[in-house]
Amino acid sequence: MKYISTRGAAPALSFDEVLLTGLARDGGLYLPESWPSFSPEEIRSLAGKPYAEVAYAVIRPFVGDSIAEADLKRILKETYAVFEHRAVAPLKQLDERTWLMELFHGPTLAFKDYALQLVGRLFDHVLKARGERVTVIGATSGDTGSAAIEACRDRAQVDIFMLHPKGRTSEVQRRQMTTILSPNVHNIALEGTFDDCQDQVKAMFNDMAFRDAMNLSAVNSINWARIMAQIVYYFVAAVALGAPDRAVAFSVPTGNFGNIYAAYAAGRMGLPVSQLIVGSNSNDILTRFFNSGTMEMAAVSPTLSPSMDIQVSSNFERLLFDVLDRDGDAVARTLQGFRQSGRFAVTAEQLQRLRRLFDCHRLDDAETLAEIAARHKASGELLDPHSAIGTAAAAAALRDDVSVVVALACAHPAKFPDAVKKAAGVHPALPPRLADLYEREERCTVLPNDLSALQRYIGGNRPPADADTRGAA
Ligand SMILES: *Cc1c(COP(=O)(O)O)cnc(C)c1O
Repeated sequence: MKYISTRGAAPALSFDEVLLTGLARDGGLYLPESWPSFSPEEIRSLAGKPYAEVAYAVIRPFVGDSIAEADLKRILKETYAVFEHRAVAPLKQLDERTWLMELFHGPTLAFKDYALQLVGRLFDHVLKARGERVTVIGATSGDTGSAAIEACRDRAQVDIFMLHPKGRTSEVQRRQMTTILSPNVHNIALEGTFDDCQDQVKAMFNDMAFRDAMNLSAVNSINWARIMAQIVYYFVAAVALGAPDRAVAFSVPTGNFGNIYAAYAAGRMGLPVSQLIVGSNSNDILTRFFNSGTMEMAAVSPTLSPSMDIQVSSNFERLLFDVLDRDGDAVARTLQGFRQSGRFAVTAEQLQRLRRLFDCHRLDDAETLAEIAARHKASGELLDPHSAIGTAAAAAALRDDVSVVVALACAHPAKFPDAVKKAAGVHPALPPRLADLYEREERCTVLPNDLSALQRYIGGNRPPADADTRGAA
């Protein structure tokens, strides 16, 4: 399997190269050259199989000969053995047509674990084979850093440095990062804001000498391997609910458009997906787009669902590639215009084509709290604010002729205890394995908002170059 860039001007790469590269050299995102296709019989044969085996069937064609069959099987088995629930991504019925898929049984209680736990192991495997090591750096406002840290901890070929704004993350979020004491994990509390953290990470990537010396890498949501790993649970859920003989809709609380794009990809691969519902909070650039055909940037305001507080959804570029009939030049031109003017539009015909599959619904914070309260009252289910946007969007936008919808529960309610308590009057407890989080030892280094101080710290805390079998080239 070869991968091509959405902007059409970067070299085609193999899976292992795409895994390590992230962003394409022309600024685009990598996509498989063609979609592997599953027949109804092949889909039917997935019924009743353990999660890791479905993952193998779905992922194998994307990996090609980059990883030996036996190795990929072992890696997938190890990855999904880490998850707390035996079903890995269990389904719960909420009402006649609505099911909830719980994607919070990983180490950090949010759905990003389902992809990042795999990506960390794939990194290690591929880097070992190449005799390389990488330095992963990232910035977090608190909600996603822990998933990246958990993915990289104790990996032999990886060091991770995660910047968070000092004193500006919640205590649960900080502790989920700083209590990981593995020697290759480095938490940095920056004396600044989240924007300062992001700017410093960008500056480090733009310093080519530093970038090469450290072999910098990122595990952000534009990495193809993360999308690939997310396709798996759409197959698992649909097959459990009757696919290929019954089509299934999905309602996805959406930020960067990675998760719902994976559902779209599953459809392209032959899974009968009848409808995709994009849920957004008041940062509603996507719902405005699906209603009007115009993508228009606006300022971001903080909400109760911070993982969806985005200005631009980076993975939307992958869908745009299909909208523009896989014309890389047209994608590049459209997005260049978007960067300059803050807006672009698709034609009425293109929007109409998208709307055959996609619908959308937006909730503000008050509506989100009302949904948490109503679901708790009706079924005893405690939803986190992101998950509540998914269930409310499902209820609001489900088409009459769709018989079943799966709303994605993207985070455990205990990750957002204040909002849940406010809405439902119940304080959600952390699961037993995290119950002592507040007693655990923390490790974290405070650094000033200063590029050279950061670079000195990272250079000094990474194993020396001679521990690195990778050549200077
Ligand atoms: C990351 C995240 C989202 C948004 O997912 P995208 O793939 O960026 O659309 C929604 N909810 C939670 C809890 C998340 O962590």
